[in-house]
Amino acid sequence: MRFVYEQADPIPKVMKPGVVYHDTEFELAELLCPCGCRHRITLLVPDGHRISVHGTTPSISPSIAVCDAPCGSHFFIRDGEVDWLPAFSPDHSARVMEQQVARHVADNLRNMSRWERLRRWVFRLWDRLSAYFRVGRD
Ligand SMILES: [Zn+2]
Repeated sequence: MRFVYEQADPIPKVMKPGVVYHDTEFELAELLCPCGCRHRITLLVPDGHRISVHGTTPSISPSIAVCDAPCGSHFFIRDGEVDWLPAFSPDHSARVMEQQVARHVADNLRNMSRWERLRRWVFRLWDRLSAYFRVGRD
């Protein structure tokens, strides 16, 4: 199978096999699994994967691992060609998924602590302001 690149805004609900759809606004790319299982693969571009395009021919790096479908496909797309790597075992897939989930949770905690800091800063400011006004009234 040879992949072609298509900029899509938005990515169509029904996708054709052999097309890498790239939504630059939402920084997503989607393609159907080249093994033929029709699993819809979603990539975060450029956060997780990078796409380089020559004409309409895409190359994607790093490799694409299908961890959320039974096929466990693992491959590169280089100059539109699928370069197969050994499929992930269900165990390996589960581990990769766990790592990804753990990373998302860690990101969320970081974001939450930023909010927490802002919230505390606002409370502190409020405290000081109300203390100031209390002093002013006395
Ligand atoms: Zn597949």
